[in-house]
Amino acid sequence: MTADIILWKSSNGLTDDERRIVLRNLGFFATADSLVANNLALAVYRLITNPECRQYILRQAFEEAIHTHAYQYCIESLGMDEGEIFNMYHEIPSVAKKAAWGLKYTRAISDPEFNTGTVATDKELLRNLIAYYCVLEGIFFYCGFTQILSMGRRNKMTGVAEQFQYILRDESMHLNFGIDVINQIKIENPHLWDAAMKDEASQMILQGTQLEIEYARDTMPRGVLGMNAAMMEDYLKFIANRRLTQIGLKAEYPGTTNPFPWMSEIMDLKKEKNFFETRVIEYQTGGALAWD
Ligand code: FE
Repeated sequence: MTADIILWKSSNGLTDDERRIVLRNLGFFATADSLVANNLALAVYRLITNPECRQYILRQAFEEAIHTHAYQYCIESLGMDEGEIFNMYHEIPSVAKKAAWGLKYTRAISDPEFNTGTVATDKELLRNLIAYYCVLEGIFFYCGFTQILSMGRRNKMTGVAEQFQYILRDESMHLNFGIDVINQIKIENPHLWDAAMKDEASQMILQGTQLEIEYARDTMPRGVLGMNAAMMEDYLKFIANRRLTQIGLKAEYPGTTNPFPWMSEIMDLKKEKNFFETRVIEYQTGGALAWD
């Protein structure tokens, strides 16, 4: 974090627009990952009884705790006003709306009296999984991750950007797990996936996309870091199409392309690094596997 601290504290290190991005994102993520953790530990874990899934949910909950700690570490190291950062989910509308949208979907299933087993309650669980995996982790993280990683690519706030890079690697796994669970529930309970539920799932993803577009406009009132809110809107629509098709729904934004191809490069590459040298340690040049 040394370079980040010097840059953050120097009066001409970052523009006001760049500082706004760092502040808003640390504010959003520091609380959002704890929403995800609470939803897992206090609601989803009790209701998903498949043992392998439970093993994974425990691992995910542990990772969410590490993520919250990583954001907290960045906030403290940079000497930010912690009260201001943590209150963003009350005070900054574009952050508050996303948090409130997520919380709405955990309320019913967090009730200790809630149980699955009827069509209505099974649908409620499915709704929660779609909200948290497809929208919260699958859309709400993407504007902020893209902004911070773009900053890192420009050699600014590289310590924070590296934390985000590790976190994004975990988040891609969380998302893949969630999509698998949703699709397996659909296979085992085809009656839940009726026209009304499909329509609702689609609407949830579209609403989430809209909230994230508003967040992009709020965090980027002007072009910054080689991107602007309009490009981010295209990117979010591209991501929304993927979320929709991943759970078997129709893409709602035909013809959108990815304006940030470097994001998939960052996500898909293996990032097993030597922590202290921050160099990739796995240079696989050829496979020598024998299957028999
Ligand atoms: Fe996560």
